[in-house]
Amino acid sequence: MFYIADLHTHSHYAGATSKSLNLETLYQWALIKGIDVVSTGDFTHPAWLKELQEKLQPAGNGFYTLKRLPPLNVLPGIKASERTIYFCLSVEVSCEYMINNRKYRTHQLIYAKDFEAVHYINTALSKYGNLTLDGRPSLQLQSHELFKIVLDIPRAYFVPAHVWTPWCSSIGAMEGHDSLSDCFKDVATELFAIETSLSADPLMCRQYDELDGLTLLSNSDAHSPRNLGREVNLLKTELGYDAMFNAFKTKQGFAGTYELFPQKGKCYNTGHRDCGVSIDADKITGNICAVCGKPLTIGVSHRVQQLANCKAVKENIQPFKYVLPLPEIFAELLNIKSDTPLHTVSVAKAYTKAIAYFGNEFDILHKVALEDIQRYYPKLATAINRLRNNEKQAVAGYDGIYGRINFFNEYELNEKQKQLALFG
Ligand SMILES: [Zn+2]
Ligand SMILES: [Zn+2]
Ligand SMILES: [Zn+2]
Repeated sequence: MFYIADLHTHSHYAGATSKSLNLETLYQWALIKGIDVVSTGDFTHPAWLKELQEKLQPAGNGFYTLKRLPPLNVLPGIKASERTIYFCLSVEVSCEYMINNRKYRTHQLIYAKDFEAVHYINTALSKYGNLTLDGRPSLQLQSHELFKIVLDIPRAYFVPAHVWTPWCSSIGAMEGHDSLSDCFKDVATELFAIETSLSADPLMCRQYDELDGLTLLSNSDAHSPRNLGREVNLLKTELGYDAMFNAFKTKQGFAGTYELFPQKGKCYNTGHRDCGVSIDADKITGNICAVCGKPLTIGVSHRVQQLANCKAVKENIQPFKYVLPLPEIFAELLNIKSDTPLHTVSVAKAYTKAIAYFGNEFDILHKVALEDIQRYYPKLATAINRLRNNEKQAVAGYDGIYGRINFFNEYELNEKQKQLALFG
């Protein structure tokens, strides 16, 4: 069967996450977005683990379902088509260490098929850090040492998280290594997948040959429930833990990803947010901010250039389609400028109505026929058509500031010209 999986999420126990991030809200947003499998996140945290054990029941396929399904109430009047939402036990941990006086910090994802495997993982990891402090615990051990521990635990899998981001990543510019083999040493060959990050896409990844052969996963890393599904993985195989990871290992049954436009990510360009300095990768002349003299944060597009070693365009690029959260598309259509468009009543109303009509968000973005959207809301059809054809204008994100994607130019959005431009 075809299904969609978002495998990097957190609970409200992880740092800088929403208080409302829990199983019930993840369940609801999975329905609204059109996701089948959602990670639990944070299973090393004792209080969250207790909640997982109390609220989840085994589905018989290595995933879990909620014992008690919550009513849909995250948005007033929201309705979505029915589907079973499966949870996959997961955690993200932070490896923090010094080598030759340089500080390294890398984030790594770990998955478990059952609570017994979770118990083995938590027992092993508790020797290296305090698991009660944060849903994403800091561990005093090197990335390859962590990977070795996970390799020894049955029914557990390991995936390096958001590998390109400047901070907290395996090959990131600021705190990472210069190659996966330097990061994972003798076990690097055991890797079968990496998570790319919101600011990278498969086209960028294919410029660096160390990633050839690895499956490029994409997840939301949602810190609030409504950010679920910013990026997701597509599968066409048996629905279950073993089959899903087998698809990641062999690429058989892996159908690619839905990718956020990488410029939308908050680490695409190199820059310095305090000074409003953002520099395209091909215009970088140094790593110092010209305004204040402090170091620039190296963006993902520049990091890819630093490590790039394949100039030739490859034929075997992993399949993917671009996505942008539907509330942001409605915000553009309604001329609302906001970083949290669903907080605006008109956007929330338009979004809720569209989800009720078409069933879920991913169907609208990539499945529903354009003619059907055209009949429903012509302007939306134009935006979706442009999304599907990668016709957009982008202002790239940098140093923690999200980028902007627009499907219309100012002329088209001008009230007087609108009819002409869109339907003329
Ligand atoms: Zn992370
Ligand atoms: Zn995370
Ligand atoms: Zn500066």
